[in-house]
Amino acid sequence: MTLHTKSIEELHELLVNEELTVQELVQASYDYIDSVEEEIGAFISMDREAALSRAKEIDERGIDADNPLDGIPVAIKDNIVTKNGSTTAASKMLENFESVYDATVVEKLKAKGMVILGKVNLDEFAMGGTTETSALQATKNPWDRQRVPGGSSGGSAAAVASGMVPVSLGTDTGGSIRQPASYTNLVGLKPTYGAVSRYGLIAFASSLDQIGPMTRTVKDNALMLNALSGLDKKDGTSVDLEIDFTEKIGQDIKGMKIALAKEMFDPVIVDQEVLDLVEKAVKELENKGAEIIEVSLPHLKYGVPAYYAIATAEASSNLQRFDGIRYGYHAENPENLEDLYLRTRSEGFGLEVKKRIVLGGLSLNANYYDQLFGQAAKVRTIIRNEFEAALEQADVLVGPSATSVAPKLNAKQEDPVAAYQTDILTVPVNLAGLPALSLPIGFAKDLPVGMQFIGKHFDEATLYQIAAAFERDHGQQHLFPALEGGAEE
Ligand code: GLN
Repeated sequence: MTLHTKSIEELHELLVNEELTVQELVQASYDYIDSVEEEIGAFISMDREAALSRAKEIDERGIDADNPLDGIPVAIKDNIVTKNGSTTAASKMLENFESVYDATVVEKLKAKGMVILGKVNLDEFAMGGTTETSALQATKNPWDRQRVPGGSSGGSAAAVASGMVPVSLGTDTGGSIRQPASYTNLVGLKPTYGAVSRYGLIAFASSLDQIGPMTRTVKDNALMLNALSGLDKKDGTSVDLEIDFTEKIGQDIKGMKIALAKEMFDPVIVDQEVLDLVEKAVKELENKGAEIIEVSLPHLKYGVPAYYAIATAEASSNLQRFDGIRYGYHAENPENLEDLYLRTRSEGFGLEVKKRIVLGGLSLNANYYDQLFGQAAKVRTIIRNEFEAALEQADVLVGPSATSVAPKLNAKQEDPVAAYQTDILTVPVNLAGLPALSLPIGFAKDLPVGMQFIGKHFDEATLYQIAAAFERDHGQQHLFPALEGGAEE
């Protein structure tokens, strides 16, 4: 039986009907991983013994037919802590770090009977958009192994897109779930800020970070959000939510108002082949009875500078804890305390991380604060207000998820500002704290393209409703990349 193409829903049915045991599923997943992982490089670590013994426990107690996640394998981005085994954040700094506790999201998924197959690659400390800043390994895009899977949740994306797992957890501070989802034909959700606990997430920029699911189908994604969301006393920004996020899936979208954010359709910033597909998808939604309007977000273009002033400031503060003393990498034979700090941080962090710590220090520096962090905070409020005004006129906003298809590996980013600029479609959403979902809508030159639905705070259910209405007619989720190792299946 071919299992690697199956969704959570399909696997659940096989488990409930006793056509498959959890042990068989986990073993088959590892066998498949063994056949394709060399081509992809998604996993940083795996604890096969723990996963198989967990699977055995679940088989022995029996599958819960009412719990769609029971016995389902999952991969976790390696900046989310798991006890037993390592959590590296893809940094030399944490290469040998072992957490003594599980992140809240991990606890929740374990309580639901999910089986963690391993931890997956990312840009170092989630800083980047290609997974190439990982200090540990490269991850390839399953659709074209000459290309990046996107980032920073590139391992999470590649693991699901290649069929190694039906679902993974990613994190999105400025687009790191939506952009890789777009590059790899997946459904990726950045939840509303506060919907999912951040406890146990290695912080990058705490006012922007959110953990979210990456799946092949819309329904699977909503099932995951049901499990992940809710109040956690250990994260003061988390919110109590009694929502069934699947409840609107299947409802038609007649009369629903969809707003095009004009600035997101600018051919100067987005490749024409991407725009063509998004515009075609919008037409289809219109044919299904949605009303399409246009709105303007004039400050969207300031999203990137504001984001980089705020995110680097928060990162410089969050990363202070890596001092070589409490945990993580520490330099050998320091001459004195200053030497220990200096060498630990110089040797332990990669270039992109160091660059951001320096930028963040500048953003918060008393001499520049008014021009940088202070100014960015004001822009953030303006952007948030513009989104909120737009969402008063419409149920959702739509635009492309990414400015292009997946770029080539090692495409030299000569100009760092231009590289940061490619985040223009995603970072404003984080600044506003809104939920956004990237949905696969087609292929340009054989590479996947995604479209982004941005909703009102805590209105993920509506995003799923619209996305599912499109998905129903497309079968995009059934398309799989041809992998050499997967050929005999
Ligand atoms: N690409 C963005 C950055 O480099 C977003 C990263 C993220 O969302 N973790 O900061």
